[in-house]
Amino acid sequence: MSTERVVLVTGGNRGIGRAIAERFVADGYRVAVTARSGEGPEGALTVRADVTDAASLDAAYTEVEEKLGPVQIVVANAGITRDTLLLRMSEDDFDDVVSTNLGGTFRVVKRAAKGLLRARWGRVILISSVVGLYGSAGQINYASSKSGLVGFARSLTRELGSRGITANVVAPGFIETDMTAALPEETQAEYKRNIPAGRFATPAEVAGVVAWLASDDAAYISGAVIPVDGGLGMGH
Ligand code: NDP
Repeated sequence: MSTERVVLVTGGNRGIGRAIAERFVADGYRVAVTARSGEGPEGALTVRADVTDAASLDAAYTEVEEKLGPVQIVVANAGITRDTLLLRMSEDDFDDVVSTNLGGTFRVVKRAAKGLLRARWGRVILISSVVGLYGSAGQINYASSKSGLVGFARSLTRELGSRGITANVVAPGFIETDMTAALPEETQAEYKRNIPAGRFATPAEVAGVVAWLASDDAAYISGAVIPVDGGLGMGH
């Protein structure tokens, strides 16, 4: 396991992003997280950034490079939901979700690309969702933003794949975080009935897959969509 590589995780103050950062710290990487509020886990550098704002991301990224060195592994995790049915969905509901989930990924990966190219080594890992390919009533904005990440990773693979850089998508199913705690109990029960594993996952179970994709063992995997969903989205 390398202890030299630098990892940046967006939205690392809570939920899945925090678990990913904890895992990388435990594995001996140098870890930075962006946060709008709060702090990342112990052992990680926390920098302030809003992924909808390129200037704030740029400043945060530069701070990470100055304090930890060039970033080699980028995990685009920050994301939001604004669930409602299409007929009730406002332009703002749509734009805010796309600008955070898909636009935020564009902004951080664009900022990272030069450094990865210079190093001729890099891992780009995008946190999508099972609903990006499965679809979800009430989540047209969210599902669109998450399926967009698949085209993003595959295009990036075609652009940068010959330079030692991989780009992959992790598609979690139902993970126990603030995002899913906000769902009504009947919705949670309905999900559980449809998950072959019969349970929800912990954020650490997503983090383990992200850590593996970042490792040398996954050097020849790019443009892939790796489900971490207990079988919910089989057939993607
Ligand atoms: P949480 O709601 O627990 O955390 C979301 C994180 O994203 C927070 O750190 C939050 O920061 C950050 N964030 C949101 N908007 C911005 C922004 N504009 N700029 C910077 N940071 C921002 O979510 P989860 O941990 O559950 O989700 C993490 C990722 O995993 C998301 O992309 C989500 O779509 C995806 N996912 C989650 C699933 C689940 O079941 N939980 C399933 C499938 C995918 P702050 O604290 O400042 O708000």
